Amino acid sequence: MHRLEGAVRSYAWGSRTAIATLCGRTVPSDHPEAELWFGAHPADPARVIDDDHVPVSLLDLLDEDPPAQLGDDIVERFGPRLPFLLKLLAAEEPLSLQAHPSAAQAAEGYAREEALGVPLDSSVRNYRDPNHKPELVVALTRFEALAGFRSAARTVELLEALRVPELDPYVGLLAGQPDSDGLRALFTTWITLPAQALSALVPRVLDGCVTYLATGGDAPREFVAEVRTALQLAEIYPGDAGVLASLLLNRITLEPGQGLYLDAGNLHAYLHGMGIEIMANSDNVLRGGLTPKHVDVPELLRVLDFGAPGVPILEADLVGSHEWRYRTPAPEFALSRFELDAGETVSLAPCGPQILLCTSGSATVECGGESIELGQGRSVWLPASDPKLEIRAGDAAVQAFRARLGLDPGDR
Ligand SMILES: [Zn+2]
Repeated sequence: MHRLEGAVRSYAWGSRTAIATLCGRTVPSDHPEAELWFGAHPADPARVIDDDHVPVSLLDLLDEDPPAQLGDDIVERFGPRLPFLLKLLAAEEPLSLQAHPSAAQAAEGYAREEALGVPLDSSVRNYRDPNHKPELVVALTRFEALAGFRSAARTVELLEALRVPELDPYVGLLAGQPDSDGLRALFTTWITLPAQALSALVPRVLDGCVTYLATGGDAPREFVAEVRTALQLAEIYPGDAGVLASLLLNRITLEPGQGLYLDAGNLHAYLHGMGIEIMANSDNVLRGGLTPKHVDVPELLRVLDFGAPGVPILEADLVGSHEWRYRTPAPEFALSRFELDAGETVSLAPCGPQILLCTSGSATVECGGESIELGQGRSVWLPASDPKLEIRAGDAAVQAFRARLGLDPGDR
């Protein structure tokens, strides 16, 4: 068992207060803090800190003895690498409109870009590794997101409610083919609109959004959140086709504790809030807009799944007395939330390598005769070779998350 120190990622959409406050640092931070990475991703591994206080990269620690750190099972199935990456995420502003490839698409795309000689660190590189990237986000605060295409019929209702004549041909297109093919046709048309057509259409749509919000009257206001989101996105990314695309996606609000699981091909954009995110240890993101980063629309279109059923909000199941488990089909990771009242203790059997991250209160973690104080915003790394562990709450209630390998298929 080792203390683990996350790696701060500073992106423009991050928050200067959320992560720093949770970790007990002074606010505002010098830079926007978007993510805190707890894992062994080569781009920014977390660091383990022992009694001698000399930090060691978790990546180096794993390299020293993969079977002891990861267990033979992981080394055999995934190679000598940690299959998951745990993050604390704080979105002050929206993230890019994006989707992730399937395992087969990632392997093919990686091989293709390798063959073309696109350097791994090039800003136009899409596939930085040959892995898929299923991801799960669990809200710590209220968490706003766009995810998955709304049903075509419902989107026709939304677009008609904006009463924008310039939208008529597009509404007609979707109304004439209200299925996944219609959504593909409309999304493809919008995301590839020439700049001139886009700069004519977007302001008309935004006018429609403003009018929709202003003229409530007796008519039911069903799409207020969707319309507000389009206006907010347009303020940050005026003239971006992603503003139009946002009107095609489900507008989702997660309450604290609720999760969202995103499999391959699912178009999404996180909008605002703080959460815990866990994903397969991959960097493969295909972006369609709402970002200054590299956008590759043709490649995005190759991986998008327009026929996916809606994206359900994921509620955790209580397992035993203190563990709330988020069940997903991902083989690379499983996430649990532990809730303990003051003075309570939970005992956990060994289950391969684990990362514990405390998000509120303070606990003592005991394992193999060692003990570590786990305050809010602190984390520990437990290698596969460690015996059973105990989490003991202090004087106040504790919330902590545990990242581990994916559950057996019967438990997912
Ligand atoms: Zn994503």
